[in-house]
Amino acid sequence: MADNSPVIIVGGGPAGMVAGLLLARAGVAVTILEKHADFLRDFRGDTVHPSTLELFHEIGLLDELLKLPHAKVDTMTLDLLGGRYTIASLKSLPVAAPYVAMMPQWDLLDFIARQGRGYPTFDLRMSTEAAAPTFDAAGRVNGVTLTTGETLPARLVVAADGRRSVLRDAADLPLEDLGAPMDVLWFRIPMPADAPTDVPLGTIATRGMVVAIPRGDYWQCARIIEKGGFPAIEARGIAAFRDDVVALVPGLSAGIDAIASFGDVKLLTVALDRLTRWSRPGLLAIGDAAHAMSPVGGVGINLAVQDAVATGNILAAPLAAGADPDPLLARVQERRWSPTTRMQAIQRFAHQRIIEPMLRGEITRVPLAVRLLDRISLLRRIPGRILGLGFGRQHVQSPLAKEFQ
Ligand SMILES: Cc1cc2nc3c(=O)[nH]c(=O)nc-3n(C[C@H](O)[C@H](O)[C@H](O)COP(=O)(O)OP(=O)(O)OC[C@H]3O[C@@H](n4cnc5c(N)ncnc54)[C@H](O)[C@@H]3O)c2cc1C
Repeated sequence: MADNSPVIIVGGGPAGMVAGLLLARAGVAVTILEKHADFLRDFRGDTVHPSTLELFHEIGLLDELLKLPHAKVDTMTLDLLGGRYTIASLKSLPVAAPYVAMMPQWDLLDFIARQGRGYPTFDLRMSTEAAAPTFDAAGRVNGVTLTTGETLPARLVVAADGRRSVLRDAADLPLEDLGAPMDVLWFRIPMPADAPTDVPLGTIATRGMVVAIPRGDYWQCARIIEKGGFPAIEARGIAAFRDDVVALVPGLSAGIDAIASFGDVKLLTVALDRLTRWSRPGLLAIGDAAHAMSPVGGVGINLAVQDAVATGNILAAPLAAGADPDPLLARVQERRWSPTTRMQAIQRFAHQRIIEPMLRGEITRVPLAVRLLDRISLLRRIPGRILGLGFGRQHVQSPLAKEFQ
C-alpha cells in the first residue's frame, strides 16, 4: 500500500465534497478529482435537507452556510388533480434548522470547497477526470489513472462519481438494477417581475407532472416523462411541448416562449440501483455510485451526504493514525445499507403507485393517504421526518485534527 499517498476521492458532488471535507479536517490528506471545471452544472438538485444542515451545525458552519441566498421550505404541498394538499411538515424536527433550504447545489459545493481549502490536507482538482482504478499485483486498488494518461497513487480510492460511475464498473462491484419508469426533461423558464407567486413546486394531473423550482429570476423546471419517451415528445414538436407544460402549470405561461427549441430542453435519465457490495480492498463506493437514487422525494443528496458522514466517522481517525483502511471499508455499507434500501423501497412504491399510473393517465382520484395527510396535521410529521432526516441519521464523530483547532 502507498502509505504516503493521499486518499483520492473521485467526484466532487455532495458525497465526495462532504467526505473530503470531513477527512481533511481530521488531518487526512485528501485529493478530490472533479471532471468539470466548476460546479455550475446544468443539473444539480437544489435541496439541502435538515439532516445536511444539522451536519454543518455539528461542525460549526451552519450560520455561515445560511448566509448564502436560500428559501426555507418547512411544509410540503402537492398540487394533485386540481387540488392543493399539504402532505409533510418539517416544523417539529429536533434539529437546529427544521426546514429544507432551497439553494442551488453549486452554491453548496462552492461553500464546501471554500471551507476545505482552509485545510492544507485538502486538495481539490477541477477539470480532472478519472478513467479507471489501478491495481497492485495482489489485486488491491492502489490509485487511479486520469483520462490524460497520468496515474495518481492512493492509499484509498473513494468512488463518489455518481450514478454513471466508471470506477464501480472497473472495480467489478456487483450491481442490482431496480429499474425506474421515468426520465426527466430539465429546462428553464424566465420569471417575469410580475410573475404569479403561487406557482406550485410540484403539479400532478392526469396529463403529467411538472416540478418548478424558483431560482431568483427563473424557474428551473422538470417534466416527468415515460422512460425512453423523449423521441416521441420531440416528434410532436416544441410548440406542443410548450402547450403541455402551460396546460399543467398555467403560472408558467409568461416565460414559456423562452423554450425556443429542444436545444433548450435537457434529457436526464433516472436510475434506481445499488451495489450489493460497496467496497473491495483499496476502494469504497458511496453516494449515487453505490446506490443511484430516483428524484422522488428529493432525498438523493441527503443520502449521499449521510454516506459521506458515515465514511468520515468510520475511517477518518484510523486513516489519520496511519491504519490500513481495508478491514473497515465494509462497515460503511453495514451502516448505510438499511437506510438506503428502506428509502429505495419508498421510491419504488411511489414509482409503482403514483408515477406509473400518472404516466399512463390513470390517476383519476386523490389517494386516501394524501387526503388523510392533508386533513390530519399530526400525521404530516411522519413523512416530514422521513424526507427531512431519512433513516439511520449520522452525527459527525470524525475528529477535527489538533493542529487545526
Ligand atoms: C432528474 C433528477 C433529479 C433529482 N433531484 C434531486 C433533488 O431535487 N434533491 C435530491 O436530494 N436529489 C435529487 N436527485 C438525486 C441526486 O441528484 C443524487 O442522489 C445526488 O446528486 C448524489 O450525489 P453524489 O455526490 O453521490 O453524486 P453526483 O451528485 O452525481 O456527483 C458526482 C460527481 O462526480 C463527478 N464525476 C463523475 N465521473 C467522474 C470522473 N470519472 N472523474 C471525476 N469526476 C467525475 C461528476 O461531475 C459529479 O460532480 C435527482 C436525480 C435525478 C436523476
